This record gives sequence, C-alpha cells and structure tokens, in this order.
Amino acid sequence: MTTAVPQPLVPASDFIRDIVEADLKSGKHAKVVTRFPPEPNGYLHIGHAKSIHLNFGIARQFDGTCHLRFDDTNPATEDVEYVDSIQEDVRWLGFDWGKNLFYASDYFEEMYQYAAELVKRGKAYVCDLPLEEVRRMRGSFQKPGEESPYRERSVAENLDLFTRMRKGEFPDGAKTLRAKIDMSSPNMNMRDPVLYRIKRARHHRTGDKWLIYPMYDYAHPIEDAIEGITHSICTLEFEDHRPLYDWTLDNGPAKCHPRQIEFARLSVEHTVMSKRKLLRLVQEGLVSGWDDPRLPTVQGLRRRGYTPEAIAEFCARIGVTKFNSSTEVALLEDCMRDDLNKRCSRMMAVLKPVKVVIENYPEDKVEELDAANHPADPSSGSRKVPFCRELYIEEDDFREVAPPKYHRLAPGKEVRLRYAYFIKLERIVKDASGKVAELRCTYDPATRGGDAPDGRKVKATIHWVSARHAAEAEVRLYDHLLSAADLGDVPEGEDFLKHLNPKSLETLKGCRVEPALAQAGPGGRWQFERQGYFCADSRDCKPGSLVFDRTVTLRDTWAKIEKGGKPR
Ligand code: ATP
Ligand code: MG
Repeated sequence: MTTAVPQPLVPASDFIRDIVEADLKSGKHAKVVTRFPPEPNGYLHIGHAKSIHLNFGIARQFDGTCHLRFDDTNPATEDVEYVDSIQEDVRWLGFDWGKNLFYASDYFEEMYQYAAELVKRGKAYVCDLPLEEVRRMRGSFQKPGEESPYRERSVAENLDLFTRMRKGEFPDGAKTLRAKIDMSSPNMNMRDPVLYRIKRARHHRTGDKWLIYPMYDYAHPIEDAIEGITHSICTLEFEDHRPLYDWTLDNGPAKCHPRQIEFARLSVEHTVMSKRKLLRLVQEGLVSGWDDPRLPTVQGLRRRGYTPEAIAEFCARIGVTKFNSSTEVALLEDCMRDDLNKRCSRMMAVLKPVKVVIENYPEDKVEELDAANHPADPSSGSRKVPFCRELYIEEDDFREVAPPKYHRLAPGKEVRLRYAYFIKLERIVKDASGKVAELRCTYDPATRGGDAPDGRKVKATIHWVSARHAAEAEVRLYDHLLSAADLGDVPEGEDFLKHLNPKSLETLKGCRVEPALAQAGPGGRWQFERQGYFCADSRDCKPGSLVFDRTVTLRDTWAKIEKGGKPR
C-alpha cells in the first residue's frame, strides 16, 4: 500500500513547539534543526513513533530539518539489521530525512579530540580506579562522593595516558577518562562522570579501529553540536543529565549549544516498551518475531494492519507533556477504528461456522445478491454475494435453547440474513457424537433484501456466506500481550513474563469468507461485518492459503438490535 503523508486532524501545539516558535520569532535561530537518535539495538516501537512525530513533526511544521542519527556509540548491542529496519519504519511512518542521515560513530575522532581538549583545559583526567570503585565512591543522595586519588594528575600525564588508552596499552577496564566536575554535587551525574572506557569490542561500522568508547552522556551533546541541532528533545529520565549535557558543551570547544528539552515517554497499558523486554520475548520464542502482531513494535503494528495515518492521529491526540503516565490501549484502538472505518470495504466472514440448509430453497439455484461495500457511503458501490441452499453462519448466532432476550437463531425463531432473506430454524440435525451438524431452516422468498411485506419483524440480522462459494481461511484474533495493565504495579524483581496473557493469540482455522476474498494478499484490509477490521497477514496470506489478522474489534455492531448481547 502506498501511504500518504499522515497529517493529524488539528495542527499540533505543545510546550516544546511553543519554545521552538519563540526561538524562531526572537531570532535565536533562523531555522530549527531537530534529530531522532535511535540506538540501533532493537526495532522501533510506538514510543519511538511518538518521538519521531515530535521531532520530524516540528521540522515539518516550522520548515526546518530533522536528522536521523544512529546513536551507535555502544558497540556491544548494535547491529545492521536494526539500522535497516529503523529506516524502513521511519519512512513507513511518513517521514523523510533527506540527506540528513548520520552515525554517531562517524564522530569518534572528533569526540576523541574534544576529550583531549577537555584534558588540556584541566577539565578531565585519567582515573585508574576499577569501575566498581568509581561507582562506590560516587556516594549517594545522602552522602557526598569521594575524590579519586588520580584526580590531581597533571595535564601532561593525563594527555599521555589518554593517548595510550587509545593505542591499546591498557587492558579493558583498567582506566577511564573522567570529567573533573564536583564530587559533592547534589546531582550524582555531576560527580566526575566517566567519559571514556576501554573496551575491546568490534563495532558494526568502525570495526576494530577503536578500543575506547565514549559514554552516552558525553557523546550525545557533542553529536548534537556537530550537527548544529537547535532543540535536542529527549525523554524525562534525562532531565537530571541536562547539567552534564550543558557542562560538556560549555567546557569544551563546541561550536554551538543545542537546548535539551525533556518530555514524558509514552507507555501504553497491557504491553511492554522496553527493548530489553521485547528482545526477550523474541529470543525466547514467546512471539513469532519482531513483527508479531501482538507487539507494540512498528513492524508488529504494521503487520497487525495499523496505518501510519492512525498512528499519526494517536500521536496528535496523546500530545506532549512533562508528566509520565500510562495511555490506555483503547485510545490507540479508537484512532485505528476511525481510520479503518473510512477506508475499508465491508465483507462477510464466518469465523466459527455452523451449516445452515434452507430446505425450501432449490438445490442448484444460485442468486447474486447486492451487498453494499460501505453502508454509510453509497458512492463506494456494491458487490455481488452468492446465495444458495447451503450456507454457513456463526456458531454464536444460534442457540439450541435460547436464553431470555436472545433474538438470534433458535428453534422456531426467525432472523434476517444480511442482504438476503428471513430464515426460520425448523430443526437441528446432530452427528453421532451429538454435535450440531446442520441447522435445517426455511426461508421466506418475499423478504429478499429487506423487510417482510406483511410487516412482521425480526429482532436480529446476522451475517453468512454461501457454503459452496466461500473460501476457507485462517483467522488470528489478538488480545493484550500482558494481563497486567501496568508493569509498574508488578513487584520489583518479579519476572514480567509471569504477566503474559496466555490468550493473547487465538487462531481459528476453517473459517469461511466471501468468495471476493479468495484472492486476498498482503496490503488488503476490510471490515468483516460484526467482527472487526482485518488485514491479510503480510507474511502468511496467499491465494489458496488465506490468513487474516484482526487489527481491531468494532466499537459496536449493527446487530445491536439484539440488546443484552455481548459486545464484540
Ligand atoms: P535504550 O534503553 O536502548 O536507550 P530507548 O527506548 O531510549 O532505549 P533509543 O533508541 O535510545 O531507545 O530511542 C531513540 C529515541 O526515542 C530517544 O530520543 C528516546 O527518547 C525516544 N524514545 C524511546 N522510547 C520512547 C517512548 N516510550 N516514548 C517516547 N520517546 C521514546
Ligand atoms: Mg536511549
């Protein structure tokens, strides 16, 4: 499917856009430059989509640019597989970085020189303490840190040691380069943080060239400054790191000083967003891959049938704030329904079929009945649906013993078949095991496509497919990945896998769908009447072997006539 550039219904406005607008008005910046800086250590998820919409959205709105920068300063966990998927996902979401694709690892030399300059200015020193000691001596919120015995080394000695760290004269972990700030600072991040560590690890882009790697808090401001970023937007947990971001730029030879602004990260109920947890689900085979339709990954949502337009609308509706909170899945689903409702044709599909035989309908007769493609939009036309003596209806649309207020099919009761006739259940045929094999019915030829001429009413309309013409399909229904709404409520140390919803996937085989769906392939989406919105599974659906995923259920159904029935 081609995707138009998603535009939210209302132009976005939030505290970050206010800052950007003010900076443009005051002349502080002539042009806004933002960046989206993923670490290529996993697939993007809906939380990243929020950040992408914010950063690329601001650039689009204010006629600026947004860089896509791979923040690949940690060699251990990164992979080209992720680099490729991230680009694909950002494009799919509707954004384009043009020529502005960058890799933090391209700046390793510059970062090194910058650190050497900090050393020369007496702002950084080589420390021989092992990392555990550095950590222990940092103190705590209650207790100031202790100064390293190596803190007062001369500039010359520091420069010499730092150069030799680079050359590989010391084993991993033997030395670090630390900023010389303040061991009694109330902000722990300012207590002589480590800027460089020795680590012999192959980097996916620089290979074995580097033996020392910069720490994130040091590298990030330099990356931003090198690229001339004006507003460096990140999530709230970096608020306490901002003084170090500013210190790094104020104390070294930075050409500009981007402004770091924090916003609340997105978390959605009943799912996980941490890359570590997502990776575990994938690696332990608990889901079918990064694109499992139950995952909140962009690839998963996409395979599930989500559209970039609906995600754009979702990002616009959640807005951007400074308060962390959990968003209900229902909001995402509502955006999805609003979008799919407009774009999807209706189809009939029977997920749990039971056979209906219309005894007074001729054996070999077939009628082509008109079915609206979109009942609310006559311009979308209609299609022909074959009707004959043997049909399938939904198992759930029939009861052998009807409970009170049950208005669908039951012995002696009459219902309307969508776009077809009234039928009445005359008798039930069971197989040897006692299972319902057939519902023997009669139809009223006078009710074709509408109401009974004698004014008699039925209280339910149900969907159906022709047994002879229907195509067989597998249908996958999804539910929340986690039973718990919020992992924040899960006790510390408890394994989140304990909260996986064992019913998150229900696979239905032997479903029957309208013959029009027989050629369905990837990219197709429809509303299956009364069942929800579905898409052809992008991996597994082929003509002859149909597989549909339910994207989202319906908010309500046209079969509401039947009051007290459970919502679908
Ligand atoms: P990691 O733990 O690996 O750092 P991360 O989720 O921060 O995970 P990054 O690749 O560093 O992953 O994220 C890229 C950008 O996306 C960052 O700027 C980050 O702030 C933003 N981002 C990540 N998760 C969310 C989220 N849940 N909501 C909003 N923005 C997010
Ligand atoms: Mg991160």
